[in-house]
Amino acid sequence: VELRRDFHKYPEVGWTEFRTAAKVTEFLQRLDCAVVLGEAAVRPDEMMGVPAPASLEQHQQRAIAQGADPEIVAQMTGGLTGLWTDMKFGDGPLVALRFDLDANDLQEAQTDGHRPWRDGFASVNDGAMHACGHDGHAAVGLVLAKMLVQERQRFSGTVRLIFQPSEEGVRGAKAMVAAGAVDGVDTILGFHLGFQAGRPGLVIAGTEDFLATTKLNVWYKGQPAHAGAYPEQGKNALLAACTATLNLHAIARHSGGATRITVGKLHSGQGRNVIPADAYFELETRGVTSELDEYMLGEARRIIQAAGQMWDVSCRIEVAGGTKSGKSSPELAAQVADISRGVTGVSEVALTSSFGASEDYSHFMSVVQQQGGQGTYLQVGAALTSGHHTSTFDFDEAALSTAAEILLRTVWALLGINETPGR
Ligand SMILES: [Zn+2]
Ligand SMILES: [Zn+2]
Repeated sequence: VELRRDFHKYPEVGWTEFRTAAKVTEFLQRLDCAVVLGEAAVRPDEMMGVPAPASLEQHQQRAIAQGADPEIVAQMTGGLTGLWTDMKFGDGPLVALRFDLDANDLQEAQTDGHRPWRDGFASVNDGAMHACGHDGHAAVGLVLAKMLVQERQRFSGTVRLIFQPSEEGVRGAKAMVAAGAVDGVDTILGFHLGFQAGRPGLVIAGTEDFLATTKLNVWYKGQPAHAGAYPEQGKNALLAACTATLNLHAIARHSGGATRITVGKLHSGQGRNVIPADAYFELETRGVTSELDEYMLGEARRIIQAAGQMWDVSCRIEVAGGTKSGKSSPELAAQVADISRGVTGVSEVALTSSFGASEDYSHFMSVVQQQGGQGTYLQVGAALTSGHHTSTFDFDEAALSTAAEILLRTVWALLGINETPGR
């Protein structure tokens, strides 16, 4: 609870989790765990949706001012705020667990009805708030590390604890996978507080239908001109963006399964009588499989280019985020369901649920499964004060120990050995 409240008070959004990641590193190092960080943990050329260097630098300074170790923060320059540790307990399989670190772009409620505000642990960082529960996830990861170290004689194998930045907007997993975060992993576990497990006591042991998704930012550059005197000299970026938007929403649907597309933001134009020379828009594609998302993405790129050509404007496309589809391994989910039934605070266990949204965890999990391993994603019920991503979000902290216990017992089921005699 103390860790969760500390992370909650100092929330940091994607790729700026310098303080959070440094505190996690310090905690693990105090347990004598070797931490993999910097470029060894996050491959810079695979990072998506990274803030501008000046913004990263500001957040780095803020993290130090808020108590982060400057030497650790220095190793994260450029937004390299992901890390992992390998806890080696002799021979055996490699079990990975993923915990996310980032907060949301949101102003936290400052009302007495909101417990973090009332009890003095509300966000002190303007425009950032832990409104998804990742503060709790990071705390569970650290407590799990401590319990594993205390009980080390009971295990044989390796536990890899992965702390992922930039889950919101699905921007962080790809760069960590590219750096080797799941190389050699036999089993991976991830969890979320609340979400579809909206009741306290409910555990959903597996999750299906993680949607693959790609987030694009698009810029069109045209030519301004006097709208009355010389319209023929203009190149209209606004019309290109409108042409693209309407036709993106007209992509033929695929017989292979569900897809989505949304242009959610469009900015263009300076004034009534100026041919608009610039346009910027943001869109996302989704698919129930990675292949379906790739189909949507391919069509989207073609339409964006063609609309640019049609209106004779230049075009730049940036991938701002994206993740793969995913589905929990049924056997592992069944095993986690059995384990959950015996855990304090659990009153109801569901085997699986259909997610119908995207989670960066599915990138880690699907790569592990492609390697021949197993993975599952569990949702641990907690009493929530309001929906995820709202300014009055808070959860009942009793769920933290429930989650930690389920994860510990699952690791024990996968790597446990008989207790050393006489211990
Ligand atoms: Zn979220
Ligand atoms: Zn979340």
